[in-house]
Amino acid sequence: MANGFIDKARILVRAGAGGGGAVAFHREKYVAAGGPDGGDGGRGGDIVLKVDGHMSTLMDFRYKRKYVASNGLPGQGNRKSGKDGEALSIRVPRGTVVRDAETGEIICDMAGQDSFVLCRGGRGGWGNQHFATPTRQVPHFAKAGLPGQERDVILELKLLADVGLVGFPNVGKSTLLSVVTRAQPKIANYHFTTLSPNLGVVALEEGTSFVLADIPGIIEGAAEGAGLGHDFLRHIDRCRLLIHLVDVSGSEGRDPVEDLEAINAELAEYSPELAQRPMIVAGNKVDIAPDREGLERLKAHVEARGLRFFELSAAAHQGTRELMYAAAAMLQELPPITVYEPTYVDRPKEVDMSEPPTIEVIDGTWVVDGPWLRQLMANVNFGDYESRNWFDRQLRQSGLFARLEEMGIQDGDIICLYNLEFEYQR
Ligand code: GDP
Ligand code: MG
Repeated sequence: MANGFIDKARILVRAGAGGGGAVAFHREKYVAAGGPDGGDGGRGGDIVLKVDGHMSTLMDFRYKRKYVASNGLPGQGNRKSGKDGEALSIRVPRGTVVRDAETGEIICDMAGQDSFVLCRGGRGGWGNQHFATPTRQVPHFAKAGLPGQERDVILELKLLADVGLVGFPNVGKSTLLSVVTRAQPKIANYHFTTLSPNLGVVALEEGTSFVLADIPGIIEGAAEGAGLGHDFLRHIDRCRLLIHLVDVSGSEGRDPVEDLEAINAELAEYSPELAQRPMIVAGNKVDIAPDREGLERLKAHVEARGLRFFELSAAAHQGTRELMYAAAAMLQELPPITVYEPTYVDRPKEVDMSEPPTIEVIDGTWVVDGPWLRQLMANVNFGDYESRNWFDRQLRQSGLFARLEEMGIQDGDIICLYNLEFEYQR
């Protein structure tokens, strides 16, 4: 967009991989053969989203689209663990909604929280210190680290405002905002002057206040993406109340009732739910209206629909106080600003299993390896029963157990998959 206001971006994020475990043996002068003392690999760094109260656009994401946290370092001898990878913080404006790029599901809403772990770093691999057993005193293997989570996400900025101003371009929305708040939006007798949303705080007596947002003029066909408006409609998604401003002066040869309904149709097109949002209608520019015909017709039309109507001259500061008090009173009865609940299900990604795993028998242990296995295991939360079951099914489907059988595995033999060791049971 011309002025650099960006409120939607797609980025690729990847947490760091875990470092590999070490194969090492204790060495000391005069001691013949020490025990295994290979340390574990460090954990990969997380990708963390952090709210920055000073940011108001997603402009930063226009040029930088890929974010990668650092890997964990490998373990060392002497039971020394590798250093953990550093977490990478990504700053976002408050109100940023994060979605999965493929499914559109909501992963998190940075409205109700200040920080969120978007991708978990991979666990480090175990060093051979863990693999010593009474029957296997000299384990010559350690485990590689697991990859970090990777996501392709869409960031969308949805402003946090109690009240949203809607209406055709040039009806006086920015003027109203500048009159009732300290915000200083651009005002000009020109369509589409406002290219970015503006927020202002309306402070009334007795500590009552609310946030008012002026979004750029909605134009007809905006909901189908025909013009500028569509991109900005998401900013009023969260608003608890809409103030619909209509020019009743007839100065541009427009009909107020038609204008009102045209915008309402756009809102409904964008979201039926938004069309149901509580609304106050205000007829503006009464100071230059040649007569009250348009105003009265709009008033009757609006009140017949059970909505409240106000007449206004934003430029002359007439009727603005009444309108703001009415809005504040309505807000008292309305539910708080919408915070979106996550809809994203952290289901493991499909894993390409076409390449068979490698199976080695080392020191009597069946050691299984392969890129698909690492990928699979990076996606499993072993603390969760469902996740473990899923993992088990994937292993069976992969034909791994069938192959082990062919190779002569016996009940009670140990299978080692990265940091996981278990006894084989048919
Ligand atoms: P927006 O596009 O809806 O934000 O409209 P603006 O606030 O930028 O106003 C467009 C033009 O209408 C500007 O020239 C304003 O000075 C003028 N305007 C706004 N409110 C009034 C009003 O109450 N009376 C008159 N006469 N002009 C107004
Ligand atoms: Mg404006």
